[in-house]
Formats: sequence, structure tokens, C-alpha cells
Amino acid sequence: MKTSFTLRDFPISTSDTFDQKQALLVIRDVSEIPEPFQNPFLEAALKASKLSDGKFLTVEGQYQGMEKLGILRIDPNKPLSHQVAEATRSFEGSMGIYVGNSLDCNAAIFGFALGAYRFSNYLTKEKEPLSYELVQSPHLVSHELLTRIQSIYLARDLVNMPSNEKNPQKLTLLVRNLPWKSTVVRAMDADELREKGFGMLLAVSSGSAVPASVLVFERNIAPMASPDSGAVDKQSPGSSSQDPLPKPFPDYGIIGKGVTFDAGGLQIKPDKAMADMKMDMAGAAATIAAFWYLDQCDVAKSVVGAVGLVENLLGGSAFKPLDIVRAHNGLTVEIHHTDAEGRLVLGDLASYVSQTYLPSKWLVSIATLTGACMHALGYDYAGLMSEDDALARDIQAAADRTCESVWRLPLDERMTEGTHAKIADRKNLTSEMMAGASMGAAFVSQFVCEPVKYAHLDIAGPAYRTKPRGIFPSEATGFGTEILLEYVLL
Ligand SMILES: [Zn+2]
Repeated sequence: MKTSFTLRDFPISTSDTFDQKQALLVIRDVSEIPEPFQNPFLEAALKASKLSDGKFLTVEGQYQGMEKLGILRIDPNKPLSHQVAEATRSFEGSMGIYVGNSLDCNAAIFGFALGAYRFSNYLTKEKEPLSYELVQSPHLVSHELLTRIQSIYLARDLVNMPSNEKNPQKLTLLVRNLPWKSTVVRAMDADELREKGFGMLLAVSSGSAVPASVLVFERNIAPMASPDSGAVDKQSPGSSSQDPLPKPFPDYGIIGKGVTFDAGGLQIKPDKAMADMKMDMAGAAATIAAFWYLDQCDVAKSVVGAVGLVENLLGGSAFKPLDIVRAHNGLTVEIHHTDAEGRLVLGDLASYVSQTYLPSKWLVSIATLTGACMHALGYDYAGLMSEDDALARDIQAAADRTCESVWRLPLDERMTEGTHAKIADRKNLTSEMMAGASMGAAFVSQFVCEPVKYAHLDIAGPAYRTKPRGIFPSEATGFGTEILLEYVLL
């Protein structure tokens, strides 16, 4: 079995011919066949099929020795990437893609690449390596576009990997060993986390034999804001927004939940609910992938990130219902359910990042946090929660420019009041079990230090699908990577 992790370069190149391909996908926006492919048989096939907008036709074994030719006529009212991805997914083997001249070539290639994604790292019988070529196109594929695709592949690969290959220690090693160019990637081990007071995160990890780890990513941040220098009292946030980089305070903070397997703790999940729980680190995967893009494309934004890597298991030393633990910001927290563990991890990360780095524009958490969010919004929308209307609007607008969708859910003092406990400062779940998605965000918001603006994305539904749709395959989708990038790159 393969144990090493290889970062995938998406193998796309350009070519002038299409005679070496097993399959060719022609994407067009007009009724006639593009000139390079004119052929009486195709004309007849197209006429017979009455190929209409958004329809996809495949012709097998009939054209220039290729096994398959696909023709997609784009529906102008639907996102191009989604349509191309769905057509691509129905193909196998090395492929060519021809994009009609009047179409957005980048959106077509993006859809093509994400539709071509396969996770085959653990198949011992090597399949023929796939290659993809952009045929007869004047367009060059930019480094930015290829890196964006590679980042989403990275997020998908990390989520699809089995938990025994990506426990907190192995995932830490894997991420640190990626060839980062200019991002400072720092790992805090369990001893350091204990020293720094990550009491909630360590409680979650207490039932596992594998110690917890927190990975911190720093881009364009001056050393004076480094974690042990106590940056909090240096300047007010926002005052440095016109300064040249690197900045004493980053503009943006991103924190991700990285529960590499969630059995639910002592309040164990039923078997079906546990089956997919290798995906409970998808928020961390999206965070890592977003930083990979920022790093590889030398984006000159000042950003800090942190992912909390833990397993939530049932070992003899596991945390128990009604235990009281002390959070990073000093609040005491009563455990009302061991399976509401993601908010404990995020709460400590939120406190650490907001206190230490004081991001001047916003702090966003991203996590597969609640089943309640899946029940409310299904697989196609992430839940967006923020007490700051302007911030919520901006994230919504950023998401609207991507293939990823978000839907705002409430977060205000009516929710945060519900997190107050009787014999401790806070509790991690309310007995009423209502408004579960909002209550998760409300809990985390208690640990963000003023005046940092905060928003939360619950990706429990769209991070891992049972059925493919558009650019999203079944299983890991890489969801969240695009929203984070779009919002940071604004
Ligand atoms: Zn859980």
C-alpha cells in the first residue's frame, strides 16, 4: 500500500492536434460544429440528436480513431464550469478539450479539470496515467489557474485519505513537508499546546493515543507579531492597513477544524453516522489548500491561519460528559456532549489567533461542524453565520463569484446566551438541541477577542457528497477553498 503523499500537478498541456487522444470533448456555444471537427457523420448525428442548450452528446468509435467524442452545447444560463465538469466526468482515459472561441476558456478548463478528478492513490494496480490536452486553442493556461486547480485537488486528496494515513501527527508531517515557498508553517505539539492553555482542544484529543497538533500558517506578517511577543498591546488593529508588507498585524485570519477521525467520543456515534468521519477535517483541508495557493502564487496579502488536528476517540483517558475544562481564553466550559467537539477545537484556535495576531479585517472559521446544518441546507449550501452584517454580505458576494454556494443563518445574542452554563462559564451544547448550526457558531464566537470581526462557515453538507453535481464529485469536494481564496484575494 502506498503511504507517501504526492502533490498532484494537474497534467494539462496544449497541443495542435487531437489524433493522440482516446477521447475528445468539444465545448461549443453555437449550433454548428467548429471548423476543425467538420465531418458529415457528426453533422448527421447532431441533427438527429437535436442537441440543445446544456445537452451533451457522445459519439463512440466514429471519429479519427478516437474511442469517444463528446460534444457539449453550453446553456448560457448555467455556470459553464459545472456543465463542463459533468460532461468530463462521464469520460474515461486521456482526453482532449476544445473550447469554442466565444466561451470563457478559463471557466471551461476549471470545470474540465475538476470534473476529471479521481482519487486512485490506494489502487495497487496502476492505471494508465491520464493526460489532458487543450487542443487547438490560442489560450495559455495560467499559473494561477493551474494552482487553483491543484489547491482544490490537494483539499480533496487530504479529505479522501483514510484516517490511519492522516492522523494528527502524520498530517502535520505531510503538510510541513510540502515545498512551501514563502509561508511560515509552524507546528505546536501537545506539550506546547498544554503550556499555552489549549484546554478544550486537548480535552477532545484525550481519548486518542495520537497526540494533538496545531499547524500555524503565517504570510507577510512581521516577526514582532510572532506568537510569543504578545502582539495584543502594540497597536490598534486596522491602523496599519496602508503599511508596506510585512505587517505587524495580518489583515485576515482563517481557522479550520481538523478532526482527523470523529467517533463522537464516549457519546459514540451510531455506525452509519460514523462511517464517513474521516472527512471531519475538511475545514482544515480547505484552509491548507487556500494557503497553498497564496504561497505558490506569491499573493502579497497578510494572512494568518491555524488548523487544530485531533482525533475524537474513546480511549481510557477520554473526556467525559459534565467534565469542566479551561479554554485558551480562560473561560471554563462544561462538556454537555463529547460529539460537539469541533466547536471546542475552533474555540481555542479562535482565542489563540484573535489574541495573538489580532487580524484587522476579519477572522473566519471553516468546519464540518454540525449535522444540523446538513439537515437545514443539504449538500449544496454551506451555512454562513456572523453577527457582522457587512462581513456576512462580503462573504456572500465572494461565494457568488465562485461555484460554491452559501446561505446565511442567524447568529446573535439570543444564540450566544444559550451557551451560558450553570456551574461553568459556558457549555458546549444546549439541552434543547434547537438551531444547532447557529448554536455551534455562537459557541465559537465566545472565544474571539474584541474587536476582531468574526464569521463562520459550516461546510458539513457540501464538503463530502453522496452524489456528484457540477464541479463537485462524490466524496471529498474541496469545498470552501474557493470561497476563502475569493474573499482573501478581493
Ligand atoms: Zn463530532
